[in-house]
Amino acid sequence: MKYKGTPISTGIGIGNLIFIDTKPVLVKTQKISNIESEFVKFDLAVSQSIQQIENIKENAKDRLSNETLEIFDAHLMIAGDSEIKSKVQTYIKDENISAAYALNQVANEYIEMFLAMDDAYFKERALDIKDVTQRLIKNLLNIPIVDLESIDEPTILAIDDLTPSMISQLNTDYIKGIITRMGGKTSHSAIIARLLGLPMISNLNVETLKSNTKTIIDGSNGTLIIEPTDEELAFYLKLHEDYLHEQQEMFKWIGKKSQTKDGHEVLLVANIGSPSDVAYTEKYDAEGVGLMRTEFLFLDSNDFPTEEEQFEAYKTVLQSQGDKPVVIRTIDIGGDKVLPYLKMEHEDNPFLGVRAIRLAFKELELFKTQIRALLRASVYGNLKIMFPMIAIKDEFLKAKSIVLEIKDELLSQNVKVNDFEIGMMVEIPSSALMADDLATVVDFFSIGTNDLIQYTMASDRMNPHLSYLYQPLNPAILRLINMVTSASKKHNLWTGVCGEMASEVQNALMLIGLGVEELSMSPANILKVRMALAKYNYKDLQALAQKALTLSTEHDIIMLIDSFIEKGE
Ligand code: PEP
Ligand code: MG
Repeated sequence: MKYKGTPISTGIGIGNLIFIDTKPVLVKTQKISNIESEFVKFDLAVSQSIQQIENIKENAKDRLSNETLEIFDAHLMIAGDSEIKSKVQTYIKDENISAAYALNQVANEYIEMFLAMDDAYFKERALDIKDVTQRLIKNLLNIPIVDLESIDEPTILAIDDLTPSMISQLNTDYIKGIITRMGGKTSHSAIIARLLGLPMISNLNVETLKSNTKTIIDGSNGTLIIEPTDEELAFYLKLHEDYLHEQQEMFKWIGKKSQTKDGHEVLLVANIGSPSDVAYTEKYDAEGVGLMRTEFLFLDSNDFPTEEEQFEAYKTVLQSQGDKPVVIRTIDIGGDKVLPYLKMEHEDNPFLGVRAIRLAFKELELFKTQIRALLRASVYGNLKIMFPMIAIKDEFLKAKSIVLEIKDELLSQNVKVNDFEIGMMVEIPSSALMADDLATVVDFFSIGTNDLIQYTMASDRMNPHLSYLYQPLNPAILRLINMVTSASKKHNLWTGVCGEMASEVQNALMLIGLGVEELSMSPANILKVRMALAKYNYKDLQALAQKALTLSTEHDIIMLIDSFIEKGE
């Protein structure tokens, strides 16, 4: 059976489909007659759960850090907690209800109590209790549990959406592809899938897919095949081989310059989320880091990372790049990136709400801690600081003045701070329209096309029904980009693009033609773009871009680029 979803991350994945249901189990009231038997059932579920958690821990021990492994110890303690057990027994006895129903009630009481606490640490424990009690309930009700950690054969994961905490559990030795219901091309799970080189498709009704069936996904065009025929399997195995061959070709471009046929050089740099990602910058020969999304340090943690922890992380990244540029973006929390331990007011439109630099101003201490860590780390490399979601000049000036204040403070404490640039992301149309004015105060621009497209088209980047509006080559977007590159040239600044758009060859050619000097992308795409770029002359790319700016639809522009590429000019 063939289905079509939205292509998110390229590559062919072949494996056994496993659907992971992340919704909480609905436990119905059930009166019981035998209290003792419910006690026994509960004890059995506890020992089953403990066994499962111990297995997960054992399987993960070589891959995960000690800190992450400690989470499993906390889970083991919750599973065997005597207070929970005695409360469950009391409910069973006093109300004649099933062990599952009693446990569900006890769990809800604990979760509410922990969530109501001010301390971030205890709030986080609410998630642990939810996690463990759901496992206990599933065991009580004989609902099968699939643990990512216990997967040990080639698997295609079907899931509503990937949460950041699941990412550390993805073992790419066995997970060969991901299909999700949620998430557009620029959702954060999409970004992670690309970083890991995992094929991914979204916008599919994952719940209806049957687990344990042989499955193929083609991440380049969004095809999903369940129970493929022998011919289909042979076809995709061949495609997979071709893909691997192309990868080999790509690796021949390691160590070469990123330049056009006529010698116009650009920088091809990496988007990373954590210090451990520097392994990919090396593997794919990135010419620096164009975007470090620092919020992943916060998302991967149970509490706010301290100044010291952040300092170590930034230092590692800066040192790994030597004198190559490293653009580190200050926290972009909010939107689809929420911290369980940060109290945030409910917002009807989080993507239009207190996100990124707006949140930094609201949580000033958080921001200042980050800046201190960044400036202290500046002595280890070539740091460029960048603020996300700048809508107006005043926001940039305010953020910059905080940085300069902290710099003075550090210098007065005899802490060394190296020179660094301060730039901004252009991801809100207002800032592209005002680039000419903003260019008088910034050191560089980096265009975040994921958000620039979302905000220009007024279409939620997570909403699968609106993926047709994700049009990086729409003339509206190209004209905004052109405004930024023109302003930046006039003021002798440089402009990069760090949205997902930069990683596709067609788009990269257009961006370079528009005057973008730095393309930042998932490291796995760098060599592909380097290889393609060498086939074209810069002046032809410029002419191509000028022509595109006169066209009226994305379709026309795609046709224009396709025929340009076909001619191999
Ligand atoms: C962007 O918006 O293009 C971008 C790079 O930032 P993020 O995807 O993290 O919002
Ligand atoms: Mg953005």
